[in-house]
Amino acid sequence: KSHQTTPPKYPSPWGAGLGEWATAYEKARAFVSQLTLEEKVNLTTGTGWELDRCVGQTGSIPRLGFRAMCLQDSPVGVRYTDYNSVFPAGVNVAATFDRAAAYARGQAMGEEHHGKGVDMQLGPVAGPLGRTPEGGRNWEGFSPDPVLTGVMFAESIQGIQSAGVMTSAKHYIGYEQEHFRLVADSETWGFNIDESGSANLDDETMHELYLWPFADGVRAGAAAVMCSYNQVNNTQACQNSYTMNYLLKGELGFQGFVVSDWIGTRSGVASILAGLDMTMPGDAADYTDGQSFFGANLTVAVLNGTIPAWRLDDMVVRIMAGFYFVERNNTRGPINFSSFTTDTYGYEHSYVGQGWTEVNSHVDVRGEHGRLIRSLGARSTVLLKNVNNTLPLNGKEKLTAVFGNDAGSNLVGPNGCTDRGCDNGTLGAAWGSGSAQFPYLVTPDTAIQNTVLAAGGAYESSLDNGAVDTMGTLARRANASIFFANADSGEWYLEVGGNLGDRNNLTLWQGAEAALEAVAGNCSNTILVLHTTGPVLLEKYKNHPNITAILWAGLPGQESGNSIADVLYGRVNPGAKLPFTIGKDRSDYGTDVLYTPNAPVPQLNFEEGVFIDYRAFDRHNETPTYEFGYGLSYTTFEYSDLSITKMNVSDYVPFSGYTTAATTYGNFSTDPANYLFPANFTRVPMYHYPWLNSTNLTLAAGDPHYALPGFIPAGSQDGTAQPIPKAGGAPGGNPMLYDVLYRVEATITNTGSVTGEEVPQLYISRGGPYDPVKELRGFERLSIQPNSSTTFSVDVTRRDISSWSTVEQDWYVRNTTKKAYVGSSSRNLLLQGLLP
Ligand code: BGC
Ligand code: BGC
Repeated sequence: KSHQTTPPKYPSPWGAGLGEWATAYEKARAFVSQLTLEEKVNLTTGTGWELDRCVGQTGSIPRLGFRAMCLQDSPVGVRYTDYNSVFPAGVNVAATFDRAAAYARGQAMGEEHHGKGVDMQLGPVAGPLGRTPEGGRNWEGFSPDPVLTGVMFAESIQGIQSAGVMTSAKHYIGYEQEHFRLVADSETWGFNIDESGSANLDDETMHELYLWPFADGVRAGAAAVMCSYNQVNNTQACQNSYTMNYLLKGELGFQGFVVSDWIGTRSGVASILAGLDMTMPGDAADYTDGQSFFGANLTVAVLNGTIPAWRLDDMVVRIMAGFYFVERNNTRGPINFSSFTTDTYGYEHSYVGQGWTEVNSHVDVRGEHGRLIRSLGARSTVLLKNVNNTLPLNGKEKLTAVFGNDAGSNLVGPNGCTDRGCDNGTLGAAWGSGSAQFPYLVTPDTAIQNTVLAAGGAYESSLDNGAVDTMGTLARRANASIFFANADSGEWYLEVGGNLGDRNNLTLWQGAEAALEAVAGNCSNTILVLHTTGPVLLEKYKNHPNITAILWAGLPGQESGNSIADVLYGRVNPGAKLPFTIGKDRSDYGTDVLYTPNAPVPQLNFEEGVFIDYRAFDRHNETPTYEFGYGLSYTTFEYSDLSITKMNVSDYVPFSGYTTAATTYGNFSTDPANYLFPANFTRVPMYHYPWLNSTNLTLAAGDPHYALPGFIPAGSQDGTAQPIPKAGGAPGGNPMLYDVLYRVEATITNTGSVTGEEVPQLYISRGGPYDPVKELRGFERLSIQPNSSTTFSVDVTRRDISSWSTVEQDWYVRNTTKKAYVGSSSRNLLLQGLLP
């Protein structure tokens, strides 16, 4: 069977300043017009790993007083610094089902990055989407549902960028597992592969599932998109003209720039012609290999004509447009930290030990974010089981006992393991580049004890899961036993307990299962709290008579203990919903990580199409333990009065028209002599510069394959006006896709005795024979007083009821009967009606 491939798509679309980008483009073009060739190249190229302060840093333009751009992780806060906050993970944001929460968290994170001098936060994440429940980095993103992810992705982008910091929406695209993402780290774990694993997916699955949230991210104005490590249909994502030129810059009308994932670039000219605009951290085949595909090689490529001048100008205009789009120029302060030491003094160019100076000013950027984090932690906690209103506890329990390694501290400190690459103590954040240093970590042990002591109760905790008998004895005496358990995952450069990023299973970690059995076997009021990166198997705990309550708290960040205590004691009424399905068995998901290479280039065949998570359970008629969208409250709600209104909108018109021709900005000399290193210039060793070592371009490139014929893809140098895709025309795609076709409303009544928050959900069945049974298309988090009602209202867009036509390469509304369901979860669909 031959490997799946993607068609070549050239030329690379040049940014046009569409929509809200017009002003940013004007400014960017004016700026870029002043630049020399080597100054332009300098903005596209990272200076090299650990050669400046941030995890990624471009060159600078000293002549214009323009400092280097600082690119820094992570999606939960500023990585590798101090006096920063650690926010709840993306999966928690998804569980809130609350747009405003996503925006507020984004804005707060943006403020912290801004305060450290970061120009671009490396996040948020919509890839992985969550194809497999074990996927190591799913928690960095939001949910395996593309609509929920798309909404949270867009809100996060706008929140972060509102603070004047660019976002890099990542990882684009098909990056659904850690195993085999790169040859380099595969070798570390003893796997022998030739190239990165290839995510093989069809056009419909691409559009209806994986690309969907990126369309929202582009529409929301993401300044950058980060291309991923994996291959897509057997072409590297950062060298893929189909995904970058055609889908992202063509169809989605993306106006910002594409930045590579770190060491995700595989070539210079080929990647640039395929749509890559910036390479990070600048090194070539591996970190600190001293080579770059860009830098001097890009200067050479423009001088010898393999990269048209308009393409370089487009790269730089896009980069600067992102910068101006978030109004970064108005407020930019200095970079006041170093990623590579926590000491105050250190080396500016740490890898080569040069430039001793004060590298860390220890600026406290946390503001009042602790309060937001505490609230988000509580508001993202999902109540899964609550027999006889066990919860909330009233604090008058005579003896409260807390159990489990996951309730306590990491004995080597909350930051004791590099990038949180261990699972000791409570799990407030998972591992990898998506993590950040804790300023403090409030454990459940501390927070619950505080509450109990304030109420005058007795409190004991037993935090070693190995002490099964001791736990059983304590549980026998306790009036309430609260057991904390976790399951961790992360990024593939670190291994924890034999898990190479992706989880090996869906069971509880830290030996929690036997300890939990001992506690639950001895206390008829056992409450189970879970800190997990994704689904864990809970069927036996759901059915356990002594386990009276189960809560999923995800990865709540630094206020973890306070957040869960707020829920346990009813200071916050839970209103979150599961952002993924908890199945009875791992095999019920129908998708799994490929753990062993199946070919020299591992082939990850997405044969399930769009049927991941609840779409798979629905299709196979599998009953899950807890379904997508499920979550209880301390009050109860009633759903009534469904109404569906058809709006008066004109028919869809496929976009038609042409771009303008490509433009160049400013002039440059084609004489290589003008690009030699300046006289008396002191080079930082290993650093990537735009200048040449020789006027002989072959020598300057140092590339054994230099100027081999047949290298330039057909059409890639064509700067004439190009047709715009039918599904395109504006950032996010054809604007008519976002026309509102229906308004669906329902009445939600709080029938209990306390104020609560409910998330009514709208699902739509598109009605085609191969369509999912139903798909989430809208939701709202509503706060409702006892005995009062609120209207739930969702606008259904054309996109929401459309299908992708591979033949037409456009969206269309199929002639089928379409149904709307409103419910409190994906399986509790209380109201239904036809879309007229
Ligand atoms: C990760 C990215 C991250 C980058 C910089 C890569 O290994 O995949 O998510 O932003 O490193 O740290
Ligand atoms: C769309 C919105 C829609 C929401 C919920 C988003 O992706 O952009 O228009 O209201 O999904 O359906």
